[in-house]
Amino acid sequence: MWSRPVSDRRKQEALNAPLDPRSPLVLDTRELGRRPGALKELSRTVPAPGDLGIEVIGVPEGASMELDLRLESVMDGVLVTGTARAPLTGECVRCLEPLEQQCEADFQELFSYPDADDRSRPADTGDDAEDEETFRLEGDLLDLEPVLRDAVVLSLPLQPVCREDCPGLCPRCGARLADDPDHDHNEAADIRWAALEGLADSMRGGEKAEDNDPRSDGDDSQEK
Ligand SMILES: [Zn+2]
Ligand SMILES: [Zn+2]
Repeated sequence: MWSRPVSDRRKQEALNAPLDPRSPLVLDTRELGRRPGALKELSRTVPAPGDLGIEVIGVPEGASMELDLRLESVMDGVLVTGTARAPLTGECVRCLEPLEQQCEADFQELFSYPDADDRSRPADTGDDAEDEETFRLEGDLLDLEPVLRDAVVLSLPLQPVCREDCPGLCPRCGARLADDPDHDHNEAADIRWAALEGLADSMRGGEKAEDNDPRSDGDDSQEK
């Protein structure tokens, strides 16, 4: 599945691609107002966007994500502090079995007012649109998705395991060691078996040699 790299998405955001106010991850700050100190707390459950994860683990698209959010009006914009909780599905990197976990990710990000830079920054640093860490309000709207995405992905285990002591797979035969705790390849027994097999081969070889004997016997008798 094709997914837009984060940097591209942010660039597009910087180019003020219009936000859809009906999107569950677009927040309207109109009620909050712009008076510094104004505070609004809200909780909402949203369907997880697609491609929210890494190769081995992630939030299934459409899964319920619980968001607890605090919007605070500050001088230059709206400070968003929040926690996201979502189910994770993935694969144990040791035994390759499917696994399910819960993810909890905290985040905090300042969304600047569209005109904040014009008021508070010198003109020569007006290249802020290039700064990937700058998030901006679009009118009264802000898009939480890139912030949420970064927070969730950063919270994911890079090496998820089904349980901390998962013994993984047998490196010799690939059996799940959790299913067979006594699983063992007894090296000494293997060597004995190899010796027995070698003996059996030589005996079979002898039989074959004897099978050929009638002709050689005949030759022998002719010679005698
Ligand atoms: Zn495992
Ligand atoms: Zn094995």
